[in-house]
Amino acid sequence: MEELLRRSEKLTTVGQLAAGVAHEIRNPLTTLKGFLQLQQRSLQVNLRHTDIMMSELERINLIVSEFLILAKPQAVHFQTKDIRYILGDVISLLDSQAHLLGIEFNPSFSQETLLIFCEENQLKQVFINLFKNAMEAMPEGGVVHLHTWRGDKRSVVIQIRDEGCGIPKDILAKIGEPFFTSKETGTGLGLMVSQRIIESHKGTLDIESELNQGTTITLMLPMVAVRK
Ligand code: ADP
Ligand code: MG
Repeated sequence: MEELLRRSEKLTTVGQLAAGVAHEIRNPLTTLKGFLQLQQRSLQVNLRHTDIMMSELERINLIVSEFLILAKPQAVHFQTKDIRYILGDVISLLDSQAHLLGIEFNPSFSQETLLIFCEENQLKQVFINLFKNAMEAMPEGGVVHLHTWRGDKRSVVIQIRDEGCGIPKDILAKIGEPFFTSKETGTGLGLMVSQRIIESHKGTLDIESELNQGTTITLMLPMVAVRK
């Protein structure tokens, strides 16, 4: 965790990040340009090449949209919300996709109201990122366990546990670094963006992982007292 924080602090300047994004986007752009030139010269369309071009375009699209979540000066609108409803919304959003992949969500929510002060869309983005990682870690299917409860010191705890591949120790150290990914089509931005959003909510994000056993992500957010 300290490692994660230290790394993200090293990269706080937007300039450094922007340079990284530019670099990551230039690679697929170069590929796209190359294939387009080939097709121009031969005056015919090679379907294998257009497939590669499509996936490179998709990659640029993903990188840009994940990055925009951070960079966009979008209307940030903090409101008091019950975390259980936010989680419920995200689960319904992903449920049918998960079902197709043989993945089940197993939510267990506290009975009591758990209010937090948040930018709802940003928090939803965090949960989407974390659930997607959990799903991607279980290509054979499995269960994503989701708990939320009232923690110590006026906090709300949200725990997401998968039964997936887990994270090797050497890789764990690199997690949260922008563009670090072990996936063929990953962007390596999901966790970094999530970490930033949680920090902007004055919360913490903790990762524990056991190889071939699964990964547990624990989020803590300040709780808003219920007015009686
Ligand atoms: P991406 O998903 O695009 O690769 P992320 O920032 O979301 O980028 O994750 C970075 C890396 O962290 C992943 O490529 C993967 O190696 C590892 N990782 C994250 N979450 C999990 C998880 N639940 N189980 C196993 N590995 C994970
Ligand atoms: Mg991800």
